[in-house]
Amino acid sequence: MKKAVFPGSFDPITLGHLDIIKRSLPLFDEIVIAIGINAKKNYMFSIEERKKFIQNSFFAEEKIIVETYSGLTVDYCKSIQADFILRGLRNPADFEFEKAIAQTNRKLSGIETVFLLTSADTSFISSSIVRDIVRNGGDASSLIPDAVSNSINL
Ligand code: ADP
Repeated sequence: MKKAVFPGSFDPITLGHLDIIKRSLPLFDEIVIAIGINAKKNYMFSIEERKKFIQNSFFAEEKIIVETYSGLTVDYCKSIQADFILRGLRNPADFEFEKAIAQTNRKLSGIETVFLLTSADTSFISSSIVRDIVRNGGDASSLIPDAVSNSINL
């Protein structure tokens, strides 16, 4: 069974994440969307909220599981027998950052990282911009799934 982990903060999930996840569905039998818990990071949405946002965005999709994890992503992958990490690439900065992590992860564990290039119409979207808009009372509904905008009353 081809099982992939899509790790991230998803604070909150955006249409950019949604695009990557939907396009990866034909590639894998199971995709675990794994929300990383990092005690040093300050999040806008709680882990429960972020998990609900993702679950509500994919409630009808049987291949998708939403989990949380802490520690190294490769250790988490091993613990659930996932052989692939899925990541999205938006720009050269993403590439440079992801390259070192993917090469390190493969050295440590043999786990392959599969990259999908963002779609042109979602490449500018980031969770941090969405958080800025929400924090300042703006309308971010064109950047996030309906399930998220409905929950945060946009
Ligand atoms: P992290 O804190 O690990 O970067 P994110 O939730 O910001 O977590 O991102 C998770 C993954 O989603 C990363 O691979 C990131 O490059 C990808 N991603 C984020 N926004 C987009 C987007 N607009 N298009 C494609 N991929 C994206």
